[in-house]
Amino acid sequence: MNILIIGAGGFIGSNLSEEILERKKEWNITAIDISDAKISHLLNKDKFNFIKADIIKETEIVDDALKNCDVVLPLAAIASPLTYVQDPMRVFELDFEANLRIVKQAAKLKKRVIFPSTSEVYGMCSDEAFDEYNSNCVTGPICKQRWIYSCSKQMLDRVIFALGIRDNLQYTLFRPFNWIGPRLDDINNPNNGSSRVVTQFLSNILHGKNLKLVDGGAQIRCFTYISDGVDALIKIIENKNGCANQEIFNVGNPYNELSIKDLAYKIKELAKSYSRTKTFAEAAKIEEINSSEYYGKSYQDVNRRVPSIANAKEKLDWIPQVNMDELLKRTMDFYFK
Ligand code: NAD
Ligand code: UDP
Repeated sequence: MNILIIGAGGFIGSNLSEEILERKKEWNITAIDISDAKISHLLNKDKFNFIKADIIKETEIVDDALKNCDVVLPLAAIASPLTYVQDPMRVFELDFEANLRIVKQAAKLKKRVIFPSTSEVYGMCSDEAFDEYNSNCVTGPICKQRWIYSCSKQMLDRVIFALGIRDNLQYTLFRPFNWIGPRLDDINNPNNGSSRVVTQFLSNILHGKNLKLVDGGAQIRCFTYISDGVDALIKIIENKNGCANQEIFNVGNPYNELSIKDLAYKIKELAKSYSRTKTFAEAAKIEEINSSEYYGKSYQDVNRRVPSIANAKEKLDWIPQVNMDELLKRTMDFYFK
């Protein structure tokens, strides 16, 4: 199988590529990204063909690669809440416009598309557990620009779904719920809001800064270890007996439900056991901050985000394996050892 991974140099793409090269020797990967910093260790591997390109500017490179693949994973996107509020047009132009072009081209060429939707599409939905086929997608007013990411992804989900009906596009939508692990974000950037929460807290500790709980930190997330996410993706790519055809899957770990406040205390405690961070972790304070001060006025939060994974269990025979303590240990070993 020829797999095209666009955005292969990112967190998910690099971990997925690594695992495919390890476990699926018969698969060929064509990888496109503007950066190869996280995949330098893969560049000389057999069956891994890296093309450095900007998918907004170099569309002919993307179109050529699409012609030669069986399945495409268009992973390139901006997935950082600070950018949603500070530069929403950049989010729209990459996450929506550039990916819309790829999806339409794939439909024209009759290629299978495995698209990264997001748990953000459920927004402020108040269901106990978000369900792919029944939960509402709830976003806030237009002035709350945080929702541009959620809306961009939701609109692409709807376009892909519609192309499935009109043109018989073969697709799978997967919705990651706070995937965490090695290569998530760069923890050398100490600025608040520069990365997702786990790596933000690791970065704060490493730079001798306090951990900030946005609006008190009562918000709940379900953290999912990257190897569990990648396992689900490999099953989706394999698509045994068409189990993933025209399906939507939440890929999250409902057993790792945790408030951001509890997360901060856990990380501070664990960081004391690494020689690099022991002193900083002991000194780091956990303090509250207003979201408008931290992110700006156009931020709005999701209070509780928990997936139903019944569909992935049933159709993919997938269930997450890595618990919260192990997830943090493996991630912190990567960043701090
Ligand atoms: P990431 O930011 O780590 O990776 C994105 C990659 O896209 C980067 O390597 C970047 O260099 C590349 N890229 C950006 N602009 C590009 C351009 N113009 N041309 C070529 N490449 C470009 O993100 P990730 O965490 O790996 O997420 C991958 C996908 O999964 C995204 O679509 C994201 O929205 C989605 N997602 C991720 C999570 C999560 O928990 N990590 C949650 C929900 C959805
Ligand atoms: N958050 C926080 N302190 C930080 C960074 C993030 O309290 O330094 C909160 C953020 O407001 C959100 C949660 O942690 O409620 C998760 O944020 P993340 O950026 O990882 O992404 P999200 O799950 O919101 O997509």
